[in-house]
Amino acid sequence: MRYEGNIYRPPQEADAYILQCTIGCSYNKCTYCSMYKDVRYRARDIGELIEDIQMAKRAYVTNIQKIEKVFLSDGDAISLPTSMLLEILAELYSAFPNLSHVSTYAGPQSTLSKTEEELTQLRQAGLTMTYLGVESGSDEVLSMIRKGVSAEEMLVAGRNIVASGIKLVAMVMIGIGGRGEISQTHIKETATLINQIKPYLLGTLTTVAIEGTVLYRQVAKGEFNLLDPYEVLKEMKMLLEHIELPALYIDGTHASNLLPIKGLLKDDKLKMLASINKYLDNKDESLIGKAYCGRF
Ligand code: SF4
Repeated sequence: MRYEGNIYRPPQEADAYILQCTIGCSYNKCTYCSMYKDVRYRARDIGELIEDIQMAKRAYVTNIQKIEKVFLSDGDAISLPTSMLLEILAELYSAFPNLSHVSTYAGPQSTLSKTEEELTQLRQAGLTMTYLGVESGSDEVLSMIRKGVSAEEMLVAGRNIVASGIKLVAMVMIGIGGRGEISQTHIKETATLINQIKPYLLGTLTTVAIEGTVLYRQVAKGEFNLLDPYEVLKEMKMLLEHIELPALYIDGTHASNLLPIKGLLKDDKLKMLASINKYLDNKDESLIGKAYCGRF
């Protein structure tokens, strides 16, 4: 239970015990990302991690049953050697008898560095979910934001995770292509990629320029134009219209989104679209934050 620097985790992991396996992100080059700019990447020593798990076990001794979820931070814990991840998973499941969910962020390059067999081994050892920052299905956009992989490579990374049985949360960014023709290309190609990957859940985030990032400097110099709220909603609407996976959960409730929406595509698609249309048709800013959020 020792932490260094700022700790980030997906909203879905709010109730998880966080085990900090790495400091920072092994890649750390995405133009929009501010999370680990001020730390030098390193993997923590396995001995330290086992000590941390034992510390957590002692701290929760009176209510150890409550530990059902663990999130492995920081930005890309899947980059650790598979043997080390297997050791961490074994220690966690031995320490917490009710543990049923262990998740991590998964960078596309680190995921591609693992074979399908390794990912399957991790699933069998109890890695139940990964969060993959897909961001866009457009090669042009992926290159512009220095994601470090092509859409084809992102597809392989996503498919390998799905094939291993690890639940995949794919995250995409509304507005990350900027304004103009690229906006439609970004959304159509993102929908195509998501349709091919077939994740368990699609998380949508809205692009914001955070001080200290390359994107922030690009916006300041007029080299990148952020979308206005109506353009953001048009992209979100187009994305929903082009996704063809009835069993997909959509979660657009990240704090970056002006209009949170959530639901299962086959049950809630029309309600989510109606919610967006209401705002677009009325141009009523008071509707922001009051969109449809189904249950899943
Ligand atoms: S891979 Fe993720 S954590 Fe690393 S720089 Fe890119 S967005 Fe940030």
